[in-house]
Amino acid sequence: MFRKIKGQQQVIDLLQKAIKQERIASAYLFHGGDGVGKFMTALYFGMAVNCLSSSQYRPCGVCSSCHKFLSFEHPDFNYLFPTVNLKLSPEGEIKDNEALKQYEAYIKNKIETPWQDFFFSGSTEIRKESISLLIKRLELSIHEGHYRVVIIENADMMNIQTANSFLKTLEEPPPNTLIILITERLPKVLPTIISRCQPVYFKPLSQSVIEEIIYDQFQVDSVLAKSAARIAGGNLKTAIRIIQNSGTSTRDKAFSLLQMAHEEQDIEYLNLVNSQKEASDAVRDLISYIGIIANDLAIIDFTEDEITNLDKIEFLKELSHDDIANRIPDFLLLLDDFTRKLEGNVNPSLIQINLYLATKQLLRK
Ligand SMILES: [Zn+2]
Repeated sequence: MFRKIKGQQQVIDLLQKAIKQERIASAYLFHGGDGVGKFMTALYFGMAVNCLSSSQYRPCGVCSSCHKFLSFEHPDFNYLFPTVNLKLSPEGEIKDNEALKQYEAYIKNKIETPWQDFFFSGSTEIRKESISLLIKRLELSIHEGHYRVVIIENADMMNIQTANSFLKTLEEPPPNTLIILITERLPKVLPTIISRCQPVYFKPLSQSVIEEIIYDQFQVDSVLAKSAARIAGGNLKTAIRIIQNSGTSTRDKAFSLLQMAHEEQDIEYLNLVNSQKEASDAVRDLISYIGIIANDLAIIDFTEDEITNLDKIEFLKELSHDDIANRIPDFLLLLDDFTRKLEGNVNPSLIQINLYLATKQLLRK
């Protein structure tokens, strides 16, 4: 099943070698950007060391052990991630009903649509109670696997006390325990944690790998696949989200923004923003798509080969003017600034209006 993970051959080779030579470290730290395969690789690694198949291509994905891992039901699989306060009982039951509902929805989402981010309704962290319970569980004997597998996602979201309470286990875990920490923000992980793990870096996926995965797994037309891969910036989750949820519509929204900015329909655009109230994610995708169109506009006078939106070339030529290539570098910087502000929780509607105004400036002849 490892071959399902694309674009991370170095990592896969490293892990397969460790399995083959039976030199598996007790703790790994998988780091790298979002949507590049860290979690799936961790899961498959845990499956591989427990797989019941005698084939050299483990995990097989079909034995009873693999099945239990894929449905997150293997008794030796411990999966921790940032949550709201679950009010855990000493036995690990979630006592808060609302939290339990959200916890179950998180797991369901992770299994069925892992490219979608799930948000709890309150602030989340890896909680001390969860770590204490994990430590207690690791002291018990293994249920049925060869290895106990622990995956801790967003391991940077642990406060210092929680991290400290885990150091001893990380340093000397019980035998046959495989701990995999995952983070997208390595600088935020405490050095005392990092030094106790074998770090494994996951690089961003190339556009062609993302395009290939989209072609393999989803039926989409080539313009959409190409532009989704381009917007995604090496993040497969973003690419899938775009083609599944808002792919064409992001593109449509971007072109209608352009059309309205070109025709200076300010009041109409303001009304549109106020009536639609886009979420932060949608505005981020919109900004990315406007960036792609800006790139098209920057090169349209020199070449048509590299243009993403070839089907809109007549319209793009109509928008283009003598000074546009000069203005585009600053415009792209502005787009970065908008994206950063969105991450800093600035109101998405406000950003969308600023995006419109900036685009209008860009297009003004
Ligand atoms: Zn198997």
